[in-house]
Amino acid sequence: MTCEDAHLSMHDYISGELAAEHYKPLMDHMDECMNCQEFFRQTAHIQTTMRDFMLYEAPSELQTAVSSILANA
Ligand SMILES: [Zn+2]
Repeated sequence: MTCEDAHLSMHDYISGELAAEHYKPLMDHMDECMNCQEFFRQTAHIQTTMRDFMLYEAPSELQTAVSSILANA
């Protein structure tokens, strides 16, 4: 798995869409790749922040806009 593949898998993993067969290669890659560990940490943090923001802070129009952006990402 390349770092690029790992990044794509991370997005799927965070959004709950990662296929089971891609999980182990991703974890194996992250065991060995500090760059991807850091990328995953930051990406997970951004996604969590965005979700909290959508749930608790944003007006409904913005929630709808963010939802459609995430759905198309
Ligand atoms: Zn990597």
